[in-house]
Amino acid sequence: MEVEIDISESPYPNSPVIPTQYDGDKVIQFQCRKGITCWNACCSNIDIILSPYDILRLKRRLNLTSGEFLTQYTYPFEFEKEGVAGVKFKPVDNGTACQFMRPEGCSVYEDRPTACRYYPVALLSMRRQDEFTDSWSYALIEEKHCLGHNEPRSLTINDYRKEQGLEDYDQLARGWRQLILKKKSSGPTVGKPSKRSLLMFFMACYDLDRFREFVISDSFNETYDLPGDFKQKILGDEIELMQFGFRFLRQVMFGEDEGITMHSDAMDKLLARKREIEALRAEQGNQDDAQEA
Ligand code: SF4
Ligand code: SF4
Repeated sequence: MEVEIDISESPYPNSPVIPTQYDGDKVIQFQCRKGITCWNACCSNIDIILSPYDILRLKRRLNLTSGEFLTQYTYPFEFEKEGVAGVKFKPVDNGTACQFMRPEGCSVYEDRPTACRYYPVALLSMRRQDEFTDSWSYALIEEKHCLGHNEPRSLTINDYRKEQGLEDYDQLARGWRQLILKKKSSGPTVGKPSKRSLLMFFMACYDLDRFREFVISDSFNETYDLPGDFKQKILGDEIELMQFGFRFLRQVMFGEDEGITMHSDAMDKLLARKREIEALRAEQGNQDDAQEA
């Protein structure tokens, strides 16, 4: 029975440390505090993956659109070859430090991302191939530069998660994490995702303002039949819109029935449009051949 392990919540996913898995009752000894001699060491050399909810919080905090935030503060990567995309923090120009690091600490502290909240704990999100839902466990990252492990404070991982405000963060990113695990563990049965579905994944997960425009667009509304009050709800609340995006992706990428209904003639219209595009391409090809001859 295959088990997929995702350590992407670790700020140091390439760490050579092989994690021991713990549950939330594991007691850890740790405290990070101002005045500690390693202050900011962890933010000076970053490799941080952002969840959709991390991006939502930070773009709001900085009063930017999702597109502006992505351009200024992130770069994309692939979770696996030809797999779905993720987004990481872009460090300062010509350096490795976080753009939000200041001598006095994190300048976006109240909205810092999931990985920063978790450190030095890492969330391990798993999904067995024969199970529908994911399950969570944790690992401890012990790095020499972090002196917080020597501080005289003990608490359980569950209490640490509460202290760091992680319960909401984890819950709100769960749909995204499940999509990634589903893609990773589905293998060839789902096949190579089309370029269009990968672009859709990126837009719905990370570029929420553009996803809102898509939901308002004629092409979406000619295809999908969302009830008016539901549409108002998701267009008026970014968290609702983000959660709808996860459901939408489950339906379009994995064929799960999420109850997002299509207009009865939508499929006919889509096929007709596809045929039109193919005919135009063929005609263009013929003209190019004629010119070359
Ligand atoms: S967001 Fe804040 S806590 Fe996270 S790496 Fe940047 S400065 Fe450090
Ligand atoms: S104790 Fe660890 S988490 Fe806190 S500032 Fe030092 S290196 Fe960073």
